Amino acid sequence: MRVTTACVMGLFALAAIVAGATWWRQRAEQQLENKAAETLAVQAEALSGILDKYRLLPPLLSREQSVVALFEERNADVQKAARAKAIEIAGMSGAKEVAFLYPDGRVLATAGDIFSGNADDHRMLLEAVRQGRLGRQAISLDTAQRAYAFAFGVRHHNQLIGAIAVYVDFDPVEATWSLSTNPIFVTDQTGTVFLTNRPQWRLKPLSELMADTSSPGHYLVGGKVLHSDLTRQLPLLNWQLHVLSDERPLITATWIGGIIAGLVSLLLCAVAFILVQRREAQLMRMRRDRATALRLERLVRERTKALSETNVSLSREIDERRQTEEQLRKTQAELVQAAKLAAIGQMSAALSHEFNQPLAAIRTYSDNANRFLERGKTENVSDNLSRIGGLVDRMARLSRSLLSFSRKPGTAVKAVALLPVLDEALMLARPRANKARVVLETQINGEPYHVLGGQIRLSQVFVNLVNNAIDALAGQEGGKVVISVSQMEGDVVVRVEDNGPGIPPDQRASVFEPFFTTKDVGAGIGIGLSIASGIVRDFGGTIALEDSKWGGACFSVRLRTADTSEMAAE
Ligand code: ADP
Repeated sequence: MRVTTACVMGLFALAAIVAGATWWRQRAEQQLENKAAETLAVQAEALSGILDKYRLLPPLLSREQSVVALFEERNADVQKAARAKAIEIAGMSGAKEVAFLYPDGRVLATAGDIFSGNADDHRMLLEAVRQGRLGRQAISLDTAQRAYAFAFGVRHHNQLIGAIAVYVDFDPVEATWSLSTNPIFVTDQTGTVFLTNRPQWRLKPLSELMADTSSPGHYLVGGKVLHSDLTRQLPLLNWQLHVLSDERPLITATWIGGIIAGLVSLLLCAVAFILVQRREAQLMRMRRDRATALRLERLVRERTKALSETNVSLSREIDERRQTEEQLRKTQAELVQAAKLAAIGQMSAALSHEFNQPLAAIRTYSDNANRFLERGKTENVSDNLSRIGGLVDRMARLSRSLLSFSRKPGTAVKAVALLPVLDEALMLARPRANKARVVLETQINGEPYHVLGGQIRLSQVFVNLVNNAIDALAGQEGGKVVISVSQMEGDVVVRVEDNGPGIPPDQRASVFEPFFTTKDVGAGIGIGLSIASGIVRDFGGTIALEDSKWGGACFSVRLRTADTSEMAAE
């Protein structure tokens, strides 16, 4: 890409340089040619003007009587007079030479002495004169002496008696041309350089001076350029006037054009190069950004896939855990229920005794009532019947408590009135305590405490703690269990303590562990305290083992106080 750009730029610069140089050269050439053409026009006019002036002179002079008379006279003074006349004419007209010639070529007189007197010199002139034309001839005596002659016949009675020739001097013309820096020259019909502002070219054939150049229509003459267009025919003389233009300005112009075009193209190339660089950098950046975006996209896709796979496996795991938890909860609930039923089983003997005793009493009271009825002692009948009613009420209350206790508990945590729960637990435990001759004592100030929990589960906790205390006091004289309720830092604390043997220090840490028991096989399985502590924890409370001031074990159950507006009956 860069190499291609550099090549394109190089070619562009080269083309620009060539075009610039060519254009500049052509412009300069045009200017030079214009200038040369101007010079050519002016000089051609000047030359024609000079020649025109002298062209008319011989015909006019030939009609003058004094001139005619010079050829008619044949005495010795004539030559003198003729010379004086020639000098006078030359002086007045500014001609280089004025000559009076006889038709046979002999010279009558001249104003100067530029001639050798050779008849051949005037042959062409006299030939024309004889034919009645204006004779004209370029004469070069040497490189310094060149002239152009006009001659006309002098006639008397239509008889040719002589000729007058006027020679035009070109020195002033050449002097004017020498002011011009461009070479100016005239070639005659033979192609010889006749007049020029370069003296060394004089009287040399143009072909000798001319060398070809690479451009058509251009020739080199003495190191200068001759443009074929810059040549003008001088019809009167059958001469060619040439103006050469100097090539140096053209070379300079070519260089200037090339350099300017080179600099401009260099500038353009630099700008183009910067733009290309910028564009490339921008493309690179865009490509890099795109690649990064694609990489990120792929990464995100992979991560998303991995995440969704993880998600699926997690939700599967969560489902499994939920099922396991559900199973665990069910198993725990069943365990709680089993522990409760175990407690009921433990209490069953005492409870059946608690039912049998009133039943026996009811039997006795009903027999007594029958007998009093036979004797007509109605007051005694009524007394026995009301005793029977009292016993039935007691049994019904116990039965209701037992039924409620044995029901499967709910799972909700609500506000529960504490005292009725304690009443129910003590009612269930009391028959067993009585049987073991253990006194159940309560220290309750009658305040209506409300705690967070569930009625059946809370009752199970207290039944369990009281049963454990009764077990510990088995066979001990004066055994007692004290149940007290107090408040601590906004919570409600229920203490179940006894004056039994207590728990040895090495077992204290283990009593809440499942299946820890010190009881005989069949008497306990060791899950009572572990389930009780689990239930209390579910209510947001704690169960702790402390020392009892009565000397035995003290289990303190700390429960959170409930907002009474949330009171609920489970
Ligand atoms: P279990 O009653 O079936 O043995 P628990 O978990 O209820 O199971 O009790 C665990 C053990 O804690 C009992 O075996 C007993 O050794 C001890 N324990 C519980 N309460 C008392 C108490 N009030 N006095 C002495 N030891 C107790």
